[in-house]
Amino acid sequence: MSATIIDGKAIAAEVRGRVAQDVADLTAVLGLPPGLAVIRVGEDPASKVYVTNKRKAAAQVGVRSWEYALPEETPREELLDLIGRLNRDREVHGILVQLPLPSHLDETEIINAVAPEKDVDGFHPLNVGRLWSGAPGLVPCTPAGIMELIRRTGVDPKGRRAVVIGRSNIVGKPVAALLLAAHATVTICHSRTADLPAVCREGDILVAAVGRPHLVQGDWIKPGAVVIDVGINRLPDGSLTGDVNFAAAREVAGWLTPVPGGVGPMTIAMLLANTVKAARLQAGAAL
Ligand code: NDP
Repeated sequence: MSATIIDGKAIAAEVRGRVAQDVADLTAVLGLPPGLAVIRVGEDPASKVYVTNKRKAAAQVGVRSWEYALPEETPREELLDLIGRLNRDREVHGILVQLPLPSHLDETEIINAVAPEKDVDGFHPLNVGRLWSGAPGLVPCTPAGIMELIRRTGVDPKGRRAVVIGRSNIVGKPVAALLLAAHATVTICHSRTADLPAVCREGDILVAAVGRPHLVQGDWIKPGAVVIDVGINRLPDGSLTGDVNFAAAREVAGWLTPVPGGVGPMTIAMLLANTVKAARLQAGAAL
């Protein structure tokens, strides 16, 4: 068997096209475009690139964006004060604090300060609680993108076994919650899981969100499974690779995401979709 490769780039472009239409409709109703404020603290080079890419993508779909680039040594009070002002600003519908933050800042405290209805990353405890309790809210971008990729395969998670490797708050846990909400029977694995290959082989859907190059081998995969590779690992030669041994997985899986070009492009597309959703929430559910 040779797996069908899931083209995350093409699917993300379609999602962005849909979002651009939503932005145009919403702008006509609101009288102003949806707005996204991005806060970056310090000089982390990867964070700079991520923020630039997010703002570029926002501009392409007509979302207005602002960047607040604060110095590394910014005191917590100053950052909290900025978040408070953005929470009250009616032109700002989404607020994103680029992680990681410098070590003197408590990420949990900062995330908790963002108004839940503007929390386009879906990290606020209220949105986490909504996700697990099945109430509508803002869902983390990468997991939302993963669900869209699974949906495009035509494989309905209902009644199927889903295995998620990784239990982080930004990928593993929320994607497990979304698969559960889609009526899959979900197993969450982590670094202490016994006989990981055997557990993975049970998955009709296998999501790898670990950060270990080529951890998942071909014989870990159930023949015909949907395999979503979230990992982004840089190899010594500078190239990027996923958590799944792509060449081996391709021979066994039914569907497979590449790295790069799989989950990655979906994350920004879903951030834009979340900004539109946040703007709608703030304008009243009638929109
Ligand atoms: P974390 O480091 O927060 O979590 C990794 C998880 O993997 C942990 O739960 C850890 O277990 C588990 N793990 C580590 N080693 C093993 C192992 N040998 N066997 C089984 N489980 C293991 O990472 P993230 O969730 O933030 O990210 C995961 C990957 O996804 C990274 O490569 C990251 O770069 C990528 N990523 C990609 C995104 C995209 O847009 N494509 C967005 C976000 C992340 P334990 O809890 O026991 O420590």
